[in-house]
Amino acid sequence: MKFRFWGVRGSIPSPGPRTARYGGNTTCIEVRTGGGTLLVLDAGTGLFPLAQQLLKDGAAVDANIFITHSHWDHIHGLPFFTPLFVKGSRVCLHGARDPVSGHGIEHVMAVQLQNSYFPVDEAQMGATIAYRTLEVGVPVEVGDALVSNVVMNHPVINLGYRIASRGKSLFFTGDHEPWHNPHPLGDPRHAPFEAHLFERQQAMDSGMLGVDALIVDCSYTRDEYAARAGWGHGTFDGAIAMALRVGARTLYCTHHEPTRGDDELEAVFAEVLARHAGQLGHLQVHLAHEGLEVSLD
Ligand SMILES: [Zn+2]
Ligand SMILES: [Zn+2]
Repeated sequence: MKFRFWGVRGSIPSPGPRTARYGGNTTCIEVRTGGGTLLVLDAGTGLFPLAQQLLKDGAAVDANIFITHSHWDHIHGLPFFTPLFVKGSRVCLHGARDPVSGHGIEHVMAVQLQNSYFPVDEAQMGATIAYRTLEVGVPVEVGDALVSNVVMNHPVINLGYRIASRGKSLFFTGDHEPWHNPHPLGDPRHAPFEAHLFERQQAMDSGMLGVDALIVDCSYTRDEYAARAGWGHGTFDGAIAMALRVGARTLYCTHHEPTRGDDELEAVFAEVLARHAGQLGHLQVHLAHEGLEVSLD
């Protein structure tokens, strides 16, 4: 199994010379199993260059897109996934039901194809398009892959996905804030919430136990996080702690903060690694960048 990053930026596309080395497109990861099954994690603007590559390859596209959650930076490449316009292509969109509105995953497509936002409606698209709203905690088989999901910590429902195939596995958090108790110490709600968080963390940890590659939202430094607690994003330090806890083989830091240029990103990353020197054991930690391809075989 191999995977490739097509978008590593969080929150808003951030093109330009400042971000040219790591890339300005928002979240999109291509996953290929040994049997050739194509899975795509999130449909940020990175989905567009992926689409160009798929069409260049010539064969009819059969793509299984898994959406972590419905925030724009994870879905706004979707109408521009050009295989949707090609007869003979098949695109299946997977994702959670929004527990607030009750909408299934088809809604993230429908809402973007409204006439005031996009000029082409679904009936005019040539591909066979299918929607599969997932049950929380229920794995699905896609080709030679098994895709399991677990609910992460984010202001809207966000599924973290584990993809396993032929003895290899990866886990992608989508947007995730590891541990945030909004109730201060001394508040009667603090202790029960702490217990709730512990239980939730155990469920998440078991979903990513022993993965070969763990791909995590590392939007903030620990200093930046202080002013952004509760926004639903993680830190480099939190991601490393999580990777060590679950025994991941490699950690890929992604969802880079949109205001952070390449030089600053590298400086921040170097500082985190220096502070963890001697504590990582066999864990390898990498910064994700557009075009980075990783083979797990
Ligand atoms: Zn995001
Ligand atoms: Zn989000």
